[in-house]
Amino acid sequence: MIMTCPEPVEGPPTTALPALSSRVRAVRSSVIRDLLALTERPGVISFAGGLPAPELFDLEGAHASFDAVLAGRGAGEGSAGGRSALQYSPTEGNRTLREQVAARYSARGLPTEAADILITTGSQQGLSLLSTVLVDPGDVVLVESPSYLAALQSFALAGARLVAVPSGDDGIDLDALAGLAARLQPKVLYTVPTFQNPTGRTLDAENRRGVGAAAGRYGFRVLEDDPYAELRYSGDAALPIAALAAPGQVVSTGSFSKILAPGLRLGWVRADPRLRAGLVVAKQAADLHTSTVDQAAAAHYLSSDRLVPALDRSRDAYRLRRDALLSGLPAALPPGSHWTSPDGGMFVWATLPPGWDTTALLTTALAHDVAFVPGAPFFPADPDPATMRLSFTTYGPDAIAEGLRRLSAAVGAAG
Ligand code: PMP
Repeated sequence: MIMTCPEPVEGPPTTALPALSSRVRAVRSSVIRDLLALTERPGVISFAGGLPAPELFDLEGAHASFDAVLAGRGAGEGSAGGRSALQYSPTEGNRTLREQVAARYSARGLPTEAADILITTGSQQGLSLLSTVLVDPGDVVLVESPSYLAALQSFALAGARLVAVPSGDDGIDLDALAGLAARLQPKVLYTVPTFQNPTGRTLDAENRRGVGAAAGRYGFRVLEDDPYAELRYSGDAALPIAALAAPGQVVSTGSFSKILAPGLRLGWVRADPRLRAGLVVAKQAADLHTSTVDQAAAAHYLSSDRLVPALDRSRDAYRLRRDALLSGLPAALPPGSHWTSPDGGMFVWATLPPGWDTTALLTTALAHDVAFVPGAPFFPADPDPATMRLSFTTYGPDAIAEGLRRLSAAVGAAG
């Protein structure tokens, strides 16, 4: 699955029906959308999708947890036995699951109570609710450039004015951040601080502290979107930005998509009480609450002893896959290219020499049965056409090596 902006929604005016909302009509469509659909053709080795490897899902554990919950052996929610798992439930989320999320934050050095957590339908819903609650039309939201596409969409739907903060291998440019914050009075800075989508970059502790300090000084909130933090294959863990800033200055989103399975659609927001109250209202309007049975099954799974070994298996497999991609890239990309070497997550970001256009290269690559995502759509403005995102989680090392041989042939044919 590849996230792109939706199709243009104007269409021919065939009837006298009212137009769609101006918010929806204002969201840009992506010119590479049709090309990306082709990356899912059978036979294509695709580095484009941001999918966890399905063979690493703990299917047996999922079976056991759903069985337990439906048999009334779940984590003590109500007196109706298994039937309570099929009932409506509180907007804030399953109490046990909130405690487990809080305990995981506390273990990472950010003391957290269950009450601080709102369970959401994927962390994407957290981003959407936060856009609704924090952003009025015209408000400035600062974003890294490049940044996670579906977050940009969510802010754009809320009417935000997206402004790029210069960022690179050394993290967010703190001087530039201060300048923009003083001039534009942003509401929010959105960052993916660990193994970012799309670049794989991580902000170091000093940069995180600097971001938190700037937020305090200039009075904006940091939205720390951190779904990849637990997929670390090398290096030392970094503290969340929320642990390095004043209380309430940072709102954090997280996800079970990368540690359990994305199809569960389970994520969360960690927020201060005032913000959480707004989020609960927005969530009631969106979906009342996240699936009761899925939350209960996840809570059961987390309290079993299966998560730690399952996560270790994923990390071990992904480490090998990352290494296979990194060791094959020098022979696959044109001389003068450079790329990130992430300590975790799912993505490597490559920059080809000036003059290359990766959207054009994708057409040639598809003719060689290999795919990647051109980097341009990830930029809020001024895209660099020579960039691309490569995901390394979907295939084993042999398929990755074969995909890179095909990419090398495509580069040779296009160059
Ligand atoms: N944030 C980032 C940075 C992501 O890459 C993704 C998914 N690819 C999400 C949020 C949303 O994930 P989910 O809704 O599955 O939790």
